[in-house]
Amino acid sequence: MCPSRKLFLLFLFVCLATSLRAQTSWLESLGINFDFDVPKPVVTYKDLIDVGSARHLSGNVCVLYLFVGTETSRWSQDEIEATAQKLYAAEDWLKSEAQRYGKKVEFRNYSIKRQLIDNNIPDNPFKPDAVGYPKTVLRRYGYTGDKELHEILTRKTGCQQFLVLVFPHVSGRCYASAVNRNMARSGSGRSMPECCMLYQISSDTGRELQVGRIAHEMLHLFGAWDFYAVSPEDKARSERAAELYPESIMLRSYGDIDQRSIDPLTAWLVGLSHKEQEWFKELMPPQP
Ligand SMILES: [Zn+2]
Repeated sequence: MCPSRKLFLLFLFVCLATSLRAQTSWLESLGINFDFDVPKPVVTYKDLIDVGSARHLSGNVCVLYLFVGTETSRWSQDEIEATAQKLYAAEDWLKSEAQRYGKKVEFRNYSIKRQLIDNNIPDNPFKPDAVGYPKTVLRRYGYTGDKELHEILTRKTGCQQFLVLVFPHVSGRCYASAVNRNMARSGSGRSMPECCMLYQISSDTGRELQVGRIAHEMLHLFGAWDFYAVSPEDKARSERAAELYPESIMLRSYGDIDQRSIDPLTAWLVGLSHKEQEWFKELMPPQP
């Protein structure tokens, strides 16, 4: 290699290092540190259990939660505080359910006090920009790439896993953007931060966000399946799940969370149990 080329590469590296440092300041300020493993190739439904940034419900999990309002519907400080309390209650419930299966999980929470204002928040998972929206939010806060997020989170918190929760101050249908089988197969989900959108008001029921809903969506990121019917053709599967696991939080997430549980199949999917039953595969929701 000629010396001028070497010099150019060195210059490029210095530029990159400088720009990375400048762009990561907002994350650095959170004091986060974490380690993201490359997911394995996905061949069967079982392989989905351990992919993504939230892989199994044990160990230390970093939770980055963010608030988004609109010009006409902003979060008040009291509402932010009340919502954070709901999140902590959902985490406590997940911790005690994990303990029932003999596993220990700890959540390390990080947030940004300043809410983001966006008048174009998608209000359901079927909107074209819905899946990528949490990343849009992260970018608006200054984040520029998945690799950067993983590196910084790994280095600072000691967490091996992380998830991002976005709380919009509008009504909508909550959803989780987890790495799916197609993404994992193609490698496109390799470094995707797994995220949930948790709306202040449910557009289906008109109810305020509940603790059970937060826990339900978080479980999706660790690999859990819905047990309610996801389409009119999906009724038989849902009825079978309701027979087997009537108290499952993946069947019903509203009401008193203490009346809900992590059922044995969900426990298996989120890595709390290794006990596999032959009917598990039958209860897998139809794949897109
Ligand atoms: Zn669900």
